[in-house]
Amino acid sequence: MRVGVFYHEDFSVYGYPVLKDRVAPAFNSLQDLVKAGRVMVFTPSVGERALHLLNKVHAPSLIEDVTREGYYEVSLLSAAGVVEAAEKLQAGELDLAFCFVGAAGHHASRDHYWGFCFFNDAAMAVVRLRELGVERIMIIDVDPHFGDGTRSLLGSDPQVIHINFHSGQGDKEDAESNNYDYGIGAADDSLFMDKINEVMGRQWEYEFLIVIFGHDSHFLDYGAFHLSELSYSFLARKVKEFAAGKPILFILSGGSNPEVGRTAVRAIIQEFV
Ligand SMILES: [Zn+2]
Repeated sequence: MRVGVFYHEDFSVYGYPVLKDRVAPAFNSLQDLVKAGRVMVFTPSVGERALHLLNKVHAPSLIEDVTREGYYEVSLLSAAGVVEAAEKLQAGELDLAFCFVGAAGHHASRDHYWGFCFFNDAAMAVVRLRELGVERIMIIDVDPHFGDGTRSLLGSDPQVIHINFHSGQGDKEDAESNNYDYGIGAADDSLFMDKINEVMGRQWEYEFLIVIFGHDSHFLDYGAFHLSELSYSFLARKVKEFAAGKPILFILSGGSNPEVGRTAVRAIIQEFV
């Protein structure tokens, strides 16, 4: 598979304090694969397109607030990388992309943000993919925190299948709007893998797969899941099989622990190279 990683050193310098320390160690864990030519590295940049998408997805008031907080540049650069990755995947230049970020996206809605998220990178990518003619997109969010921003932006669009794993309780399925939420509490590897198997064992119709991956789900990181690298390798293997040749876009989400970042991202990428 042609695997691309989107990374900018600014993510670990100007990124959100909770999230930024894991970025460089996680990226560095891939260097042997980069040197061997099995992973291509792309450095994102912000251009007119990212600005256009930002203004389509977010209200001016949110953009002003993020600017005031000092996270405008790094958040836009993060989202720009995700958009570039989506474009390269859709153009057939890559089969899998993994996007590092300096700030996360899934808690950002049109006019509200919280939880280390500022601009909704996945929603910006969806808007871009639509411009490129992609109709049906699946988003699987395995960050243990509920992706409320993404749901708020895309939940009413039945052409976006939005699946959330979260650390609450209970399943909620809305087949009409294609929103599916799975509360798996303080899931361990076996519970997580069972649920992934269950969800990916069903028939879903989509053209492009986005996976929102937070390693705050690791037992040594700050989220409520208690997963290990076994779950990440398993997830990657299942995603590869599940997508069956369709473009796969991984977006980094929560996670703070540099040691976990190093092993978690490696565990994912390893399955695709
Ligand atoms: Zn999270």
